[in-house]
Amino acid sequence: MADPATEAHIPRQTLTFKFRLRDKHAAELNRQARAVNFVWNFCNETQQKAVHSGRKWLSAFDLQKLTNGASKDLDLHAHTIQRICRAYDDARKTHKRPWLRWRGRKSLGWVPFNTGHVTFDGEAFKFRGVVYQTMHLRDELKLGVKIGAGSFNADARGRWFLNITVEVECATSAPISRVGIDLGLKDLATLSNGEKIASPRFYRVSEEKLAKAQRARKTPKRVRNIHAKIANRRKDFLHKASVNIAKQFGLIVIGDVSPKKIAKTRLAKSSLDAGWSNFKRMLAYKAIRHGGSTLEVSERYTSQTCSCCGAIPASSPKGMGALGIREWACSDCGAVHDRDVNAARNILRLGQQSLTEGALA
Ligand SMILES: [Zn+2]
Repeated sequence: MADPATEAHIPRQTLTFKFRLRDKHAAELNRQARAVNFVWNFCNETQQKAVHSGRKWLSAFDLQKLTNGASKDLDLHAHTIQRICRAYDDARKTHKRPWLRWRGRKSLGWVPFNTGHVTFDGEAFKFRGVVYQTMHLRDELKLGVKIGAGSFNADARGRWFLNITVEVECATSAPISRVGIDLGLKDLATLSNGEKIASPRFYRVSEEKLAKAQRARKTPKRVRNIHAKIANRRKDFLHKASVNIAKQFGLIVIGDVSPKKIAKTRLAKSSLDAGWSNFKRMLAYKAIRHGGSTLEVSERYTSQTCSCCGAIPASSPKGMGALGIREWACSDCGAVHDRDVNAARNILRLGQQSLTEGALA
């Protein structure tokens, strides 16, 4: 039997997911969204009347009392009505307005629900006895997972989404191995153990395709779609690369990226920057989920320093031509280095040093 004292110490992480729902659910959700608007507008009207007649303004609790019992008539979950009242009260306070805008046909569909109302059976979601199917699922969703409060939301094109929060347990023990990571151009990441994660070809190929499409005077919509597709593929690639590392290593030390590297590339600076920072962000939260942690250190001198003897020998790559040199030998100790693996080893050493300094401080 699980000891409640130790169980309380299992670290948890709340994840937010958005799932696109199948279009067949739109009719029922549109109906509920109209009922939601009705409740919202009732709150607004009641509040407006209270203001005009000089009565006390209504709290979320007052509104909940007034709407009590409307669930059956409106065919809405009672707690959905409660959440609308609370959301109305919150919005009124945030905007510091006596009353708010009315919700109508132009308002984006919204159906909130409370913790535990939406369940997951391993394949689909269930809300008020109705099964909702999504276009995709996520690995983190397991049968019987606890789903927190969330909402069904429509976008401007009338497509419905399910937004949920899920609490997952983080691993309590981190993998013991440690790794340093040098971020780069040709290889997205070089690991201190010698592994390399090559930047996939589509990083560049798609940029070219995009440029072509723009030259061909494609419609803005088409160009936008290409952009979105590239962004998705990159994100997917970064997710897979980062989860592999987070599963293997308990301490992940990453170098910041020097502007010199960025200046060297043909790719748009912004997309590289975004790739690196997304990768770091994903590593950080995935490391936490797997019980580990990440640390960022300055990558200054990490390419020039020999990771074997710690010297900056005369033979190490320096200056303008340094990025062209893939391999070099240390003139002090004779060690032969792959430039990026050597840098990654130095990054790991710097990370470990800063940890012991922190412990002694
Ligand atoms: Zn050396």
